Formats: sequence, structure tokens, C-alpha cells
Amino acid sequence: MQQIFQTNATPAEYNRLGRDFPFPDLRNTLCQNCLKSEYTPHGYYQRYLIAENFEGYIEIRRYICSCCQVTVSLLPWFCHPRRSFSVELIHCLLVKFLDWTESVVSFLGGFAKTHGVKVSRQLIYQFKKRVVRNCNIILMEVTRQFNLESPVSNSNEQRNRVKDALNIIETKSPNPCQVSMNMFSHGSHTYLTP
Ligand SMILES: [Zn+2]
Repeated sequence: MQQIFQTNATPAEYNRLGRDFPFPDLRNTLCQNCLKSEYTPHGYYQRYLIAENFEGYIEIRRYICSCCQVTVSLLPWFCHPRRSFSVELIHCLLVKFLDWTESVVSFLGGFAKTHGVKVSRQLIYQFKKRVVRNCNIILMEVTRQFNLESPVSNSNEQRNRVKDALNIIETKSPNPCQVSMNMFSHGSHTYLTP
């Protein structure tokens, strides 16, 4: 299982502290899988992260339930489950790309220049496909998290609907990590998962 936690640390700060980082303590938390035992510390693993001003391996704290053996990995909120790219980077890429009307080559060239991160054409198309597939979940989450009373989008086209939802996140939330974390803890989905 993966659990996302909030932190004010940037990826570089998180990495600098390594295992000294003040991770959330799950020792007195009941296992969410079997509800029979509490978690115990279960070491660390390394995970690759690509963020705007950081790229490299970071330490991820792990816990285990001594009863059912389920493990819990604690992801800092800038980590997107199953992806190397950070949540902020994925959000920023998608907001810009869904609005882009010129060639993908010029988009990726510009993005590399302004954000210092190289993205392949294959990857950006994959991101777009995934986020469009998660359109309904994202729209529901945006409505729920921001208590919206009017529809997120009036478009019938999935691509435009998800674009409108991401733009609402962009204007209402100072940090997409918050939205992504809430989305994931509510239903195990976020921008690109499952
Ligand atoms: Zn358990």
C-alpha cells in the first residue's frame, strides 16, 4: 500500500535529510488492511524522482503490519504513485500541453528550456492519454474538494473537460500536491493512476 503525506520540504530538502527526515510515525496506527495489529517500521527503499530542481534517488520510509504482513510506503506528496515525475511537474506539463496548439516538438523544446526537464514525445502522449482516461474521476474530485456548485466544464469532449478541471486546480489550489494527495487517499486514483 502507498500512503501520501504532506510536507513543506522541497524534493531537494527531503533528499538532503535522507533517513533523518521527520517521517510520519505509524507505530501506533491500526493496520487498515486487517484492523488487527499496529504497524512496525520496516526499513526504507529508494525511489527515483524527477522534479523541477531535483533529480535522483530518494529514501521512502516503509512500515509493515506484523499480523497480515501488508507493507505501507510513505510517499511525500510531491511523489506521484508509480511515476518518476513529480506531481507538480506532471500537473504543469498537462496544463500547458492540453492548451498547446502548435507542434509537440516545439512544446517539449520550450518546456525543457523553461523547466530544465527533458520529456520524450512518447511520455507526454502517454500522460495525456492517461489523464483523459481519468477525466470523470478528476472532475468528481475537483467538484468534491473545492465544493463547487456549478459544473467543472460545459464541454462534451473529454480532453476539454479534463483541461477545465486542471485549470480549476491551477487557479484554486496553490499546490497541486494537495489535490493529488486528497484524490489518492479518497479513492486510490490521482492524475495518471491507475
Ligand atoms: Zn494488517
